[in-house]
Amino acid sequence: MTPTPKLQRKLIQAVAETVIRHAGELTALDQAIGDGDHGLNMKRGFEAVLADLDRTSMQPTGEALKAVGMALVMKVGGASGPLYGTLFMSLGKALPADVTVAGLADAFAAATDAVKARGKSDAGSKTMLDVLVPLLQVLRSGGGDMAERLRACATESAAATIPMKATRGRASFLGERSIGHMDPGARSSELIVHAILDVIRDETA
Ligand code: ADP
Ligand code: MG
Repeated sequence: MTPTPKLQRKLIQAVAETVIRHAGELTALDQAIGDGDHGLNMKRGFEAVLADLDRTSMQPTGEALKAVGMALVMKVGGASGPLYGTLFMSLGKALPADVTVAGLADAFAAATDAVKARGKSDAGSKTMLDVLVPLLQVLRSGGGDMAERLRACATESAAATIPMKATRGRASFLGERSIGHMDPGARSSELIVHAILDVIRDETA
């Protein structure tokens, strides 16, 4: 499947608007175990993405993802800007022109590896990678009900960061006190995945 410009526009717009709408919640999560800027950081980045929507929706999907990633690197700041920027740019670089689940899984694997390298991190440290890595495993597993399994995986993986102790990023400064709170980046990753799946569900309904 190759997304049409119309679908591409809907996807980018839904992701951006969802993140912007949840900025308050993301900030509150970051107030608990970080410096309270994740919502604001992400809102700034995705407002820049929305401002560029006319141009990006017309581009081939790979190029559009690279443009989204560039906007996030430039505007989000903090730790999450370069990390989400890397995720989208690497995904754009690796995505085949004709998107299949297997092709998406390979591209998402490359993008997740790039985030790991950039953050000198991996799953288990209470970060966005605790959502991205399980999602990759679901994509890799193939089979039916993919959308529903991805949706559930994002929710469960973000919730699973609550009892974890942070060993990367600002939250790691809190040590044991980081336990008992959801990681803000894990929640923003969940939101992004749900926004994408909602659009796809509406399109295929
Ligand atoms: P900052 O921590 O610089 O204030 P944000 O608040 O915008 O940046 O983003 C924090 C989120 O970034 C965390 O919740 C976590 O998910 C993610 N993060 C931070 N450091 C890393 C890392 N080394 N690897 C992966 N993700 C990270
Ligand atoms: Mg922060």
